[in-house]
This record gives sequence, structure tokens and C-alpha cells, in this order.
Amino acid sequence: MPSSQLAASLVAMRASLPRGLIKNDIGMLFLAESLLAYITVDQVIRKTMPFTPFHMGPGAAIKAVTGKYFSLMVFGFAQVAMDVEPLVRILRGDSVLHGFSHTYVGALLIGIISLFIGKAVSERLLRAWNVMVRFRYTRWLVVSPGITWPAAASGAFIGTFSHVFLDSIMHSDMQPFSPFSASNGLLHIMPVGWLYLLCVFLGVSGLMIMLAAGMRNK
Ligand SMILES: [Zn+2]
Repeated sequence: MPSSQLAASLVAMRASLPRGLIKNDIGMLFLAESLLAYITVDQVIRKTMPFTPFHMGPGAAIKAVTGKYFSLMVFGFAQVAMDVEPLVRILRGDSVLHGFSHTYVGALLIGIISLFIGKAVSERLLRAWNVMVRFRYTRWLVVSPGITWPAAASGAFIGTFSHVFLDSIMHSDMQPFSPFSASNGLLHIMPVGWLYLLCVFLGVSGLMIMLAAGMRNK
């Protein structure tokens, strides 16, 4: 919203307020500044910040609750796999960035890929991690390198389906139910800034629970 439009709507808002509610101009100025700051942050986030890492927030919260039944590493692999298509489309300069990968049918397919390739890649990374921390004072960080199939499957499919769900709220070029429907009922059900904050909140809470529980299973 341009600032002139914002100023006009604030004047209109002030006229509609009961007399004496905002006693002086400082209150009004504070309100205007807060609104302007919120709009600016929201615009900056929309334009510049990639959402992929924020998907890890809900993943951490799910991990904190489900423990060994959910692989956070395979979940992370699924997030990256989901955003390969938009990345390629950004580089190509396409007008639609979120195509087949950001549909529930696409999520099913990328979930299957993440299950098999993500599990193998994650186990390889865990083995490399164990080699890195095999020394005397870091030996306590060694983990079992195996990921069970149920944990890999929950990580992969919760990963891809939650990705489509969350992205549906913020991307207007998405058709999550394609090829069955072109609708997206979730679009803008909450401001994008709130969605980022929610993901950060879930991530921090999940990490704190995991740390408190001393959880070390991937
Ligand atoms: Zn995405």
C-alpha cells in the first residue's frame, strides 16, 4: 500500500473512532508507524526471503512429538526436493513458479522419491557425521546411521504434503488440487508475515523440546 493511501485511510479511521479514544497525535503517529513497519516487513519478506528453510520449523515440532517414528533428515530432503522446480523456474524467468511439484499429486510423487533417495542420502550423511565426531571428546555425538522405513516414510510424505499445504497459503500461482481443480481455498487465509512467525515459533519450540529430552535420533 503506498504511504499516501495509508495516510488517507488513517485519517478516515481516526474520524470514525469515538471521541477521546486517541487523545493526541502521538497515539495516531504510533499507530501509523506500526502499520507502516508491518507492511514494509511483509513486503520485504514476500519479495526476498526464500520460504524453504522455514518449512523445517513445523518439521522440528513434529520430530519433538513423534521422536524415532519420524526422520527430520528425510523431511529436510523432501523440502529441498519440493523447491527444485520453483528454483529452476526462477532462473528461467517463468511467470508461474509453482507448477506440478506444488500439487498434492506432485507431493505424492516427490514423497516417493524422497523416501528412497532421501533415506539413502541421509544415511550416507549420518555415516560421514559419525566419522567426523569419532574423536575422544565428541564421541558422544555419534548416532546410529540407520533410518527405519516407517521413519523415512513419515518424514518424506509429511514433508511433501505439509509443504504444499503451507505454500498454498502464500503463493497465488499455485493450484494444489491440479489436475482435478484449479482452486486454492487456502490462499492468503493469514498474512505471510504471520506464517513465517508461526514456522519460527514451531521450530524454536521443537528444538527446545528436543534439547530438553536429549533427543539424538535423526
Ligand atoms: Zn515451495
